[in-house]
Amino acid sequence: MIQYRISYQELAEKIEAEKPGWMERAKTKTVDDSAVWSEVKVVYMRLQGGSKCAYCERKMEAEEFGKGEQAVDHFRPKKRVQVWKAPQDLIDLGIPFTTPPKDNKGYPALCYHLFNYAAACNPCNSILKKDYFPIAGAYQIESDAPETLHQEELPYLIYPVGDFDDNPEDLIQFRGLLPSAVHTEGRKRYRALVTIEVFQLDSREERANLFRDRALIITHLFTQLENKANAYTEEGRRIAQERIESLTNPVIQHANCARSFRDLYYLDRAKATAYANEAWDYINGKS
Ligand SMILES: [Zn+2]
Repeated sequence: MIQYRISYQELAEKIEAEKPGWMERAKTKTVDDSAVWSEVKVVYMRLQGGSKCAYCERKMEAEEFGKGEQAVDHFRPKKRVQVWKAPQDLIDLGIPFTTPPKDNKGYPALCYHLFNYAAACNPCNSILKKDYFPIAGAYQIESDAPETLHQEELPYLIYPVGDFDDNPEDLIQFRGLLPSAVHTEGRKRYRALVTIEVFQLDSREERANLFRDRALIITHLFTQLENKANAYTEEGRRIAQERIESLTNPVIQHANCARSFRDLYYLDRAKATAYANEAWDYINGKS
């Protein structure tokens, strides 16, 4: 997961340019209407590196066909917040979870809030995240202000759009193919662990597509990093550097994985080489 940094004003301008009058229309809506938020799905798809899922960084088809592959996720659930059953290993760490209010109806005031949307692939949105929204603070389901809620509810999931949440790359980095928490303790660690768990970002079997694509990117990147290190000419170095930049660009799928690998290569080339070999083994079906 990476951040797609944008201010509310900039986002509102993009929405208005795409669908003039949408912001005004949305204000008058009192019930949920998927046709309304679907109208602005492409704005989020463009913002998120050209049809990348906000959560798993999978790349989908471009706008016309890609709309069918992903949904507008309501970061805070629009109809109800369901209890998320944390796995035992997270409970054993002592991570506190607040129980959602009984018979809650979700966050009605955020149904049309621009900072409550993200474009997400269907597995992330409807199979994994569903109506879960685990937090450490107190639920404030009547609120209409995501920035304030972020401070007061202390959500575990990371909202990757906008300019007020943590940058996911400060919380989650990759060790080869596997996402892991950057911090060794505290709330930032818990956010990483819960986010990885909810979206199953570390499940080799259930999310084999993610692992395969991460492996392909790591092997390509490794080749270019080695080309740069071993180049005989300035021109060779320049070309390799250009390709490294392309492979770690935010529009590339699994950019967090790619950037983690690049940074590790410069710090510990032997460890990065071992991860590149693991990636090749994964592609060849040996791991
Ligand atoms: Zn996804």
